[in-house]
Parts: sequence; C-alpha cells; structure tokens
Amino acid sequence: MDAPPPLFVSHGPPTLIDEAVACRDFLATLGRAIGTPRAILCVSAHWETDAPRLGAAARPETIHDFFGFPDALYRLRYAAPGSPDLARRAAELLGAAGFEAALDTARGLDHGAWAPLMLMYPAADIPVVQLSIGRDGDPARHLALGRALAPLPAEGVLVLASGNATHNLAERGRRDEPARGWARAFDDWLVRAVEAGRVDELLDYLDRAPEARRNHPTPDHYLPLLAALGAAGEGARGRRIHASFLYATLSMAAFAFGVGDKSLFGVADSG
Ligand code: ZN
Repeated sequence: MDAPPPLFVSHGPPTLIDEAVACRDFLATLGRAIGTPRAILCVSAHWETDAPRLGAAARPETIHDFFGFPDALYRLRYAAPGSPDLARRAAELLGAAGFEAALDTARGLDHGAWAPLMLMYPAADIPVVQLSIGRDGDPARHLALGRALAPLPAEGVLVLASGNATHNLAERGRRDEPARGWARAFDDWLVRAVEAGRVDELLDYLDRAPEARRNHPTPDHYLPLLAALGAAGEGARGRRIHASFLYATLSMAAFAFGVGDKSLFGVADSG
C-alpha cells in the first residue's frame, strides 16, 4: 500500500462502539478506506507521561480506563499484537530528535487507542504500539514529537492520533442535541486552520481559537492532533474526513494529513 496518511480521530465516549451514530459508522469504514498498514503507532489522549513512553509489550492488555459505564464495556478486549520492534524504532527516531523516550513493556492499550481501532480494524491482527503524550501540555513539543516520527508512514506505519476535536464534558447535553454555538465556533476554526496548514495558529490555539479553554478545559484531547500534523512532515496540511457532534459539546471531527486532494472514500470527504 501507499504510505498511510497520519490521522486524527475523535474517539468520543467508550459507549460509541455500539451506538447508532454517524461517527461510529465513519470509524467502521475508515480502516477499509486507509487500507492495511504494516503496524499502527497510536498517540492517545489517555496516556500522559513526563518524557515520551512507548508501549513495548508483545501482547498489550486492553485497559478499561473509564468509570461508571455499562458492564459489557469492561469485558471488551482488543487482542491486537504489540510490536516491540516498532516501539524500538520509534524510540530511536524520538531519541535522534532529542527526546528521552523510554520503552514500557507493561503498558497496554487504553480506550483512546482500542475503541477507534476496534471499529477501524475489528480483526485486531495489525500490531499496535501506543505512544504517550506529554504532561506539560506544550503544543510545540507535540508537533516536534510528530515530526520526529515522520519517516514512519513510508515504512508502512499508520500514525493514528486519538483525542477529540472539542472536549467539554462538564457542559455536555443530550446525545443528539445540536452543537452549542461555542463548540461549533472552535470546530470551524480548527477545520480552517488545519486545512490551510496554519501551524502557528494551531500551536497558539489557546490565544487564537474561539473559546479554546471552554472547548478544551485540559489540553490532552487536542495535543494528539499536533502529533499527527507533525508526522505528515513540514508544510503538510490536513483535510477533514468526518464532521459530526455528540452531546452538543463533543465535535467528532477527524482529519487526514498530507493527503492533498486525494479522496480516501471515493466521494467528497467532508461530511
Ligand atoms: Zn477521551
């Protein structure tokens, strides 16, 4: 296959897996649209560390890192193998870029990784390695993290960043309620900035995006997007490949980076 484009997906709540909503259906078609990569490097919002860490287990556990959801969700397992080789390769690339990356043979896959992957690649036969985000919340550092990994797509590795385009849980509404104006305003800004390749603006989102702190009370669900942008290489732009909202405050937007005008789905991609 061609080099898989780095992706950012919004993973939503863990219940998404069996909900009849557009973003679930989108994720369920995304794997076929991308094709089968050799391996997947997943940057999830749900693993924060000081220095970058890479999951290096040969058989990563499924981590149920959420509370108060239906029992059935705690029984889900995503049995994809790990790839200690890819973990070492990514650590080497990060080391060459000045990061002190470490391997973690005990870490499994959190729901930021396995929930979208269970929809994208339900056979769970593609090796997955997880990479942590930084506790410092520094946007420039996450772009640099992604840039260090830019050789991986040409090696057949899908860089999958998983967060949420907007992520205010405290003010969420009912599932099918229309998006709040302030959430839509941030989402519109994000799409414009990503599609125009305005990297400075994306880095400076706290000062330049409308209602940035309201949409991202903490930076963890935003920062993975910068890693995907970085992994597409200098000068890359992204393209929105999915648009929808859940619970009035969660934009479920997804982006593919460095794809130019190429359609991934054989139709106009923006929904
Ligand atoms: Zn999350």
